[in-house]
Amino acid sequence: TAQKETLGFQTEVKQMLHLMIHSLYSNKEIFLRELISNASDACDKLRFEGLNDDSLFENDPDTQVKIEFDSEANTVTISDNGIGMNRDEVIENLGTIAKSGTAQFLQQLSGDEKKDAHLIGQFGVGFYSSFIVADKVEVLTRRAGAKADEAVLWTSDGDGEFTIENVEKAGRGTSITLYLKKDESEFADNFRLRNLVKKYSDHIAVPVMMEKEHYGEEKDKPETPEWESVNSAKALWTRSKSDIEDEDYQEFYKHIAHDYEDSLTWSHNKVEGKLEYTSLLYVPKRPPFDLWNREGARGLKLYVQRVFIMDDAEQFLPPYLRFIKGVVDSNDLPLNVSREILQENGNIASMRSALTKRILDMLKKLAKNKPEEYQTFWEGFGQVLKEGPADDFANKEKIAELFRFASTKGEDDTQNISLDTYLERMDEKQEKIYYLTAENYLTASRSPHLEMFRKKGIEVLLLTDRVDEWMVSHLSEFKGKTFEDITKGELELDEEDKKKQEEVEKESKDLLERIKKVLNDEVEDVRVSHRLTDSPACLVVGKDDINMQMRRMLEAAGQ
Ligand code: ADP
Ligand code: MG
Repeated sequence: TAQKETLGFQTEVKQMLHLMIHSLYSNKEIFLRELISNASDACDKLRFEGLNDDSLFENDPDTQVKIEFDSEANTVTISDNGIGMNRDEVIENLGTIAKSGTAQFLQQLSGDEKKDAHLIGQFGVGFYSSFIVADKVEVLTRRAGAKADEAVLWTSDGDGEFTIENVEKAGRGTSITLYLKKDESEFADNFRLRNLVKKYSDHIAVPVMMEKEHYGEEKDKPETPEWESVNSAKALWTRSKSDIEDEDYQEFYKHIAHDYEDSLTWSHNKVEGKLEYTSLLYVPKRPPFDLWNREGARGLKLYVQRVFIMDDAEQFLPPYLRFIKGVVDSNDLPLNVSREILQENGNIASMRSALTKRILDMLKKLAKNKPEEYQTFWEGFGQVLKEGPADDFANKEKIAELFRFASTKGEDDTQNISLDTYLERMDEKQEKIYYLTAENYLTASRSPHLEMFRKKGIEVLLLTDRVDEWMVSHLSEFKGKTFEDITKGELELDEEDKKKQEEVEKESKDLLERIKKVLNDEVEDVRVSHRLTDSPACLVVGKDDINMQMRRMLEAAGQ
């Protein structure tokens, strides 16, 4: 159908557009990075689909991105000869936000948060960033393989609606024209655009072309424009480390992770030998808003001999490292590798285990060299990492080294005490790592169970994350010391304490009997306690009984 339709943006898109235009205004130039990033992805996808269907290249096999501008009309056009989109894809991709949970997330943002670029940036600002600088955007696109008259023209002023109609387009791919706002004319400028391409898109593997500048007289200008590549057009991970600046790594990260912020750290490695591959792995600074969404995208970008194969290849990372972003480029996998093959391929398992070690080492290094940044990481991703001991038995000690907890020797609820620190400062004779679980820090730190430990100066870890109970049950020990829940069972006593205990027990025999009678069936036993120094009494769970927090959870679930 060639008819023209006017459609409304999904509500979430409208909200996003509004927030984005306001919160990202101070960094408006990123629209170019986003559009080039999309163009580059589209070229990757074409090359991938072309592996099975040569005809998609339409005798024009070299993919590229072109940037043009018209300073009189105040427009900038970004074109690619990548995969393009059909009508349905345009409506889906440029009219909705696919990620689930978006509406909810946007709704719960407070007034101040709405102005926070970082929060909005979590979505990956993407195509919609065009509207920061443009008051009208046209997308002309034809999917590779479709007929010339099956192209689509999408137009919007970013104000809630877009129109879509079928038109003709000779070449495949997408061409996006921004009609710049009056006061954004700075972008319709050769020098400015070249600088931005250099700054943001140097690492993109596909060439970003601009017309060669013509100095000298107008009459000597060549009839057909000459084009030159403005970026270095070499996949970043194939370059040698010494040639790559930190800024290049960071820009590349933003491209593959669709993140708005820099990463915390990365690790770039070329592996040779039985299996040959290059990996470039990044640790993000902040969790995406949908970290806990099971269907959320995770995994690495997979290339085989420089050819893009797929996004979100999850088989290369264990689930507890699902927040890692990056690229793996293999020389051994077949080009026609599919997700199913990845699942069964034995090489993948050994690559995953090598990548896992690499990531754990990278985190360890970050913790050692940049403790403050590590703390940021821990606050965002610690709870995911705590799934590690259950997931990955072989590495459980390495994973546990990365854990941070609040404790009775900490100043507040900040989780910043490592198990190594705990071991270092405990008494030589102490056999166990003591911990207490509770719903929150306040409850934990005020627990009467802590009194005896405080008095004796024994540090107790205060565990208040939902996963803790489960995590400790899988970890069970660290460097030869077992974990001990202080709300369970007996406390180890030294000789002197033991004697005292016996005396008190003798003296209080009658009293205990009386209390037991009064409480009758409510308790199993009444004992003299040496756990308490200030509180008169406390409830204790038997050694093999389920722990208090678990009990509360079960109760809450109606068990
Ligand atoms: P993201 O790149 O994170 O997916 P964007 O908002 O940047 O999000 O783009 C949304 C979608 O629109 C892309 O995933 C892609 O499917 C489609 N798209 C955008 N630009 C292009 C393009 N130049 N060629 C083909 N598809 C595109
Ligand atoms: Mg994008």
